[in-house]
Order: sequence, then C-alpha cells, then structure tokens
Amino acid sequence: MKTISLLGSTGSIGTQTLDIVRNHPDRFRVCALSAGKNEELMERQIREFHPEIAVLYEEEAARSLRERVGDTSCRILSGMDGLIEAATMPGADLVLGAIVGMIGIRPVIAAVTEGKDVALANKETLVCAGHLIMPLAKEMKVQILPVDSEHSAIFQSLRGGAKGEAEEILLTASGGPFRGKKKEELESMRAGDALKHPNWDMGPKVTIDSASLVNKGLEVMEASWLFNMPPEKIRILVHPQSIIHSMVQFRDGAIIAQLGTPDMHLPIQYALSYPERIPLEGKRVDFFELGKLTFEKPDIDTFRGLALALEAAKKGGSLPTVFNAANEEAVRLFLEDRISFLGIPRVIEEAMDRIAFTENPSVDDIMEIEAETRKIVKWELS
Ligand code: NDP
Repeated sequence: MKTISLLGSTGSIGTQTLDIVRNHPDRFRVCALSAGKNEELMERQIREFHPEIAVLYEEEAARSLRERVGDTSCRILSGMDGLIEAATMPGADLVLGAIVGMIGIRPVIAAVTEGKDVALANKETLVCAGHLIMPLAKEMKVQILPVDSEHSAIFQSLRGGAKGEAEEILLTASGGPFRGKKKEELESMRAGDALKHPNWDMGPKVTIDSASLVNKGLEVMEASWLFNMPPEKIRILVHPQSIIHSMVQFRDGAIIAQLGTPDMHLPIQYALSYPERIPLEGKRVDFFELGKLTFEKPDIDTFRGLALALEAAKKGGSLPTVFNAANEEAVRLFLEDRISFLGIPRVIEEAMDRIAFTENPSVDDIMEIEAETRKIVKWELS
C-alpha cells in the first residue's frame, strides 16, 4: 500500500490521479489532498477518499470547507503553510505535485527536503529550480518520477539502456491546435480556439502553452534536469498523432520509444506504481486504424515562444524563471482577452530583455525574480 499526498487534487492531473487510486484501493490511499479554492469538489473528494488533511490555499475557501466537512475527521488547512504540511506529512510515501504554476515550487522542495519521493507534473518546479532540486534529491536519495507523458516516455525508454549510454532525447510534440498556421492567421486566434487541443484534455494553462509551443520549450528544460542531458541533445519532433510519447537514441544508434494512446492515466499510474506495471483499462493502439505515424520539424519562426524557451534553456540561471513567470502572466492576459495570441511571445521577450541575469538563483531569488517579472509585465500593459 502506497500512501500519497496529492497536491492539486481538483485539477486535470489531480482528478485522473484519484481515478487511479479509486481503481486500485488495495495499492494506493491518499493521506492529504490540496488545491487552490475549489471547495465543492474538495468536499466530494474528502468524503470519498478520507484524507487526514485537506488544504485550500485560499483562506476564505478553506474556512467555508471547514464548515462543509465539520462532520468528518479531516483537518482543513490553508495557505503555503498548509501546502507544506501536506507535502511533508509523516505518513506519505509519495507526493504527487500537480499544482499549476510557480506556487507549486516550495511544497515540492519541502517534500524532497523531508526525504519524500515525488511524482512531478508541475513543470515550473524543475524549469525554475531544477539546479536546486536535482542535487537535493540526490543528497536525500529521493526519486523524482516524471508524470508528464513525454518525460514518462523518456523515463521508460531509458530503462532500455545503462546509465551514460543515452546519446540524445527525441521529444515529441503534437503541434497543438495551430500546427501549420502562419503568423498572419495566429494574430486573430482567441482563447476559445487555443483551448481546443486535438489530442489531449488538459487544464487551460497547459493547453494554451501547447498551442503556443511554449509547453514544449518548458518540457525541454524539464527533461534536461530530469535526465541530466544538455538542451542541445534534446531534439523536438512534431508528431501530430501523439502515439509515440517520446524516444531515446542510444550511443549505438538504437532508438527506444514508448507508445500508447493519448491518455494521461498511463504516465500518472506508472509514476505511482513504479517500478511495477499494474493493469490499466482503456483504449489500446490500433496500428491498422492509424495507418501511419508522421513527423515534422517545429516551426520556431512562427512559434517564437519556443525559440525563446530554447534560449532560456541554454542560458539557464534566472532566465527560465523570467520566461516562465512572463508566460504565466501573458497566458492569463490572453485568457482574459487582453492580449492577442502573438502577444504572448512578445510579452515574454520583453521581460527576458529587461530583467537582470542571475547565475545561480536561490528559492528566495526565484520568488523575487518571479514577482519582478510579473510587475514589469503588468506595468508594460497598463
Ligand atoms: P489544472 O488547471 O487542471 O489544475 C490545477 C490544480 O492546481 C488545481 O487542483 C488547482 O486548484 C490547483 N491550484 C491552483 N492554484 C493553487 C494554489 N494557489 N494553491 C494550491 N493549489 C492550487 O492544471 P493541470 O492539472 O492541467 O496541470 C497541473 C500541472 O501539471 C501543471 O504544472 C501542468 O503544466 C502539468 N501538466 C499537466 C498535464 C495535463 O495533462 N493536464 C500534462 C503534463 C503536465 P483549484 O481547482 O482549486 O483552482
């Protein structure tokens, strides 16, 4: 029986994680659930999964939840202290980090510091603080298990060779809903268009990031930390069918890939059950129905966000934090219909040009750089 503390339980990854817990009550249980403010869904989750603690980041929502579940023994907490308490619960064997955004960084660091294995969906954690987390994980002898489908695929493929034998990572990308479009067409795209992902059903932030290809850039940074591979050795292949979830080329030229239908339940479950594979119901790949698998080069001139991400990945230091914070603000503004789709990379580029570079930022520096970036973006657009 593995006991899980789930950060971000009400989101797309969080609810799919709970599907797996529901399907395998003999293997998994949750000791803590946490989210931002969704008290209604959190109440239902508390009643079904009986965690010892539940956290809503927003104080007001936590207060209301406390009243709703007063008849249960679940303790309700709030704020960053609450998230950290959930991430470091003595009974937790594994912390699953699926909070969206940079708010997820501190709880993950707290979990690693406490010696907990972490299944990581929240990309911002490694993008901004990979240089702190990976050495800490090594020191504490904890595992950082990828949840993202591409990183899970790389992780699975790497099991086909010994340490040091991998030569290159082939990171696949669906290309998102705007694949093949030119700049002129992108200018008029609205949030409703960008939220229609062809293959994956995800939260709004990551769906917009997929449309802009920023997501792929964040994934390069994440893969670089997770697998200790320089960004130059991570090649992006646009593969619109989303059947090959990524591949590893080894030093003898052999390529090992992981394939499957586009369903996040598989990588989430693998992170929970690793190193074992356990049964998972669902659609299987039908190669005859598929007919062919295709590959294209990413169009980094049109999708400038990806070019900027690759620049941030190469330079490192504080630049990935600036990139990420500026993108979070830009996506928010795009979803509120206050900037255009092509405004997203413009906002990011401006922030990357303006904010002073720091070589090796601490967690406090990262939070300061984040705040400064958000301030500059808001000021620019006011
Ligand atoms: P969602 O937007 O669906 O869910 C986000 C979760 O984070 C919700 O539970 C939300 O709670 C919670 N949250 C938001 N703000 C706070 C806060 N201040 N404190 C605590 N919790 C908060 O996102 P996804 O599930 O899609 O994505 C989660 C992470 O996983 C992201 O970093 C994303 O990039 C990554 N990821 C997602 C994939 C996917 O398929 N969805 C694939 C690969 C990676 P509430 O509901 O109360 O707001």
